[in-house]
Amino acid sequence: MPDSTTSLPDRVGAFDALIIGAGFSGLYQLHCLRDRLGLSARVLEAGDGVGGTWYWNRYPGARCDSESHSYSYYFSEELLKEWEWSERYPEQPEILRYLNHVADRFDLRRDIRFGTRVTEARYDAAANRWHVSTEAGERFTAKFLITAVGCLSTANVPDIPGLDGFSGRWYHTGQWPREGVDFAGKRVGLIGTGSTGIQAAPVIAEAAAHLTVFQRTANYSVPARNAPLTPEFLRWAKDSSADLRRVMHSTTNGHPFTISERSALDATPEERRAAYEAAWEKGGLQFRAAFRDILTDKAANDTAAEFIRAKIREIVKDPETAAKLTNFDHPFAAKRPPIDTSYFEAFNRDNVSLVDVRASPIERITPRGVKTRDAEYGLDIIVFATGFDAMTGPLLKIDIRGRDGVPLREAWEAGPRTYLGLQVAGFPNLFTITGPGSPSVLCNMPVAIEQHVEWITGCIAHMQERGLERIEAEPDAADRWVEHVNEAADATLLPQASSSWYLGANVPGKPRVFMPYAGGMARYRGICDDVAAKGYEGFALSD
Ligand code: NAP
Repeated sequence: MPDSTTSLPDRVGAFDALIIGAGFSGLYQLHCLRDRLGLSARVLEAGDGVGGTWYWNRYPGARCDSESHSYSYYFSEELLKEWEWSERYPEQPEILRYLNHVADRFDLRRDIRFGTRVTEARYDAAANRWHVSTEAGERFTAKFLITAVGCLSTANVPDIPGLDGFSGRWYHTGQWPREGVDFAGKRVGLIGTGSTGIQAAPVIAEAAAHLTVFQRTANYSVPARNAPLTPEFLRWAKDSSADLRRVMHSTTNGHPFTISERSALDATPEERRAAYEAAWEKGGLQFRAAFRDILTDKAANDTAAEFIRAKIREIVKDPETAAKLTNFDHPFAAKRPPIDTSYFEAFNRDNVSLVDVRASPIERITPRGVKTRDAEYGLDIIVFATGFDAMTGPLLKIDIRGRDGVPLREAWEAGPRTYLGLQVAGFPNLFTITGPGSPSVLCNMPVAIEQHVEWITGCIAHMQERGLERIEAEPDAADRWVEHVNEAADATLLPQASSSWYLGANVPGKPRVFMPYAGGMARYRGICDDVAAKGYEGFALSD
């Protein structure tokens, strides 16, 4: 009988850099390190294809909330010119096609290892190398380790008693089966009303016999107003790429629109209503930009909240359902605001009902369905649109150990601590693309990703030119940065949403720390450029 251990793959691959993840970040990082700096680099990707978030999130209605012409790489003029988006907001399959096109166009696949889930990464100080192991037992080493694992890639399935005994099928939206789910004739329960649940509900309602939406926190949403893109718009976007890039680089959130300079409180009620009406008609995340102080002044925010509340009451015919849908407990946009296609309208259908599980909490899942304090709901399918262990989850899922074997989990016991969201003190040569403490999820993601990838590439080039081998965030610099991240969040209304995933509040036991940098993308870019210009101030570089 063969020794079972000999059949385990145990190859060691040595590279200049290892990149974990083949989504937007990993693909561009590979291109930069391999094709611009000439390094040997390998991407390790758990999925069987490229795409990251867009590989896994195949739930009905999955679509991006950033507009197509801005949800693109801007590093290549040729790529911008040749790719044609079909709709105002790209749908998941189209984004996946785009990322596959990028992988082929830049010949990236040959350096990506698919079906390879990284489980461990250990820093060896004597050799100045990262040792990386995978679920299948493969081992790799590299001088640089770059995590491109995304911010929202660790599914959060709530620990509700009884799920194991449910006689129907259940799914989490972030781990959707590739073959899809047939809802025809089924009684479907949807738990969660974040961006995902709000996108999925109307699409599931079209197909299912009945949809029950279990809402814990009422959520604001603004119409997306999706539509096919006209040839004129596509031509304009291509011809204006330099201007669009300039706008996206100059704004707080990396979107291709500017924020009004006017305060909501300086406008008369009529002017305010007109501005909100116009923003509602235009649709999309741009609604937040109607006035400059919506995210910083509670009284200004209240005017937006009241406008949205009135709109929902107008749309939803049943006053009791409308009351539940508008029973907000946080300022507008203090949680990531969804945009929707006929979400509130879906509650006017005969086959859709809303259950307020804050008023009557879910007690357990029974073999037949969901049991709340007051009733049991018979279901054939449960869809968990319950979000993610955001930002830190994807990093902590890997057993990452820095100097002296210190686990990242231990270094972040009280919450994530980074310098610029790019590095962690005690973890040399580890870079975290869109890591906690960077604008990441508060920004149009491709803009945040390109900035990080380019900064990391510039930093490694700087090291190569000077024969430097090691870079590590200084603890003091990280402490100051964490303080600044907190100050930036406190200058906004964002921390006022006490159940927000920005604060880690959606995962029981997770430390409550505001994770993304709320000081704005343009300001952040300036800080990073300044740090680099000063010889990587706050980082210790050595040979
Ligand atoms: P989410 O915003 O975290 O929403 C999760 C929902 O599940 C919330 O309504 C939450 O209620 C509810 N929930 C969680 N645990 C529950 C429980 N035990 N019982 C009842 N309800 C529970 O997650 P998401 O909707 O997947 O969105 C996450 C982020 O992904 C978004 O904010 C966005 O950044 C991104 N995203 C983007 C797009 C896009 O661009 N199109 C689409 C989808 C997602 P509470 O609010 O009470 O916690």
